[in-house]
Amino acid sequence: MSFCIAVDGPAGAGKSTIAKRLAGELGIVYVDTGAMYRAMAYHMIQKGTDLEDQEAVSRDCQDAEISIVYDQGEQVVLLNGENVTPYLREESVSGKASVCSANPDVRGRLVALQRKIAEHTDLVMDGRDIGTCVLPDAELKIYLTAGTHTRALRRYKELAQKGESCDLEQIERDIAERDYRDMHREFSPLKKAADAVEVDTSDMTIRQVEEAILSLVSERRGAESESRES
Ligand code: C5P
Repeated sequence: MSFCIAVDGPAGAGKSTIAKRLAGELGIVYVDTGAMYRAMAYHMIQKGTDLEDQEAVSRDCQDAEISIVYDQGEQVVLLNGENVTPYLREESVSGKASVCSANPDVRGRLVALQRKIAEHTDLVMDGRDIGTCVLPDAELKIYLTAGTHTRALRRYKELAQKGESCDLEQIERDIAERDYRDMHREFSPLKKAADAVEVDTSDMTIRQVEEAILSLVSERRGAESESRES
């Protein structure tokens, strides 16, 4: 049985930064499930699929073979054998990923892949439904949040640092729209699992968040080895 940490939360709450650092600190694998939904969206963009047409989305997701490999510790997403990682973080892909992730056939394919990876690998997996659906028995579940404005500001700074032109109000609107869609879809909507620990990162540094979660990991591991010994 592998040791799994589930990290869920809305867009821009810091999930990937934190999950990646935790995995590095604990010497386990980091799995970014958002990148898989982004790869699916990229596939549909390439095919010209009408994302409002659920039958077309269900049909076109069947010929997307998505897999992940690691290159020097970094996750690489392969779509039908091609490395599509460099195209996945664009804003146009974010919105489309959120639209096509509402389709149950898309989710079925990707959840099966995620569970398979977690079967034999100790990992930190981040997404929207990891604690509620993909890994309901994860040893530790974290629900990361932060106010919409804080999350938009973080994204704005990230883009500005890369020299990309961006509009803070537009980013805030896009994030709010994506949250709404992710939280209100019919299948596996974003929500805090009943047994998840909520961490509001609005007024915390990355290091503080990481330390808070690492101390929860130590608690859980301690409790586990005690129960094995007794
Ligand atoms: O985490 P990231 O922002 O890369 O995710 C992109 C989109 O993929 C999300 O807005 C969400 O709609 C979808 N997603 C999901 N379930 C996951 C991970 C991501 O529905 N486990």
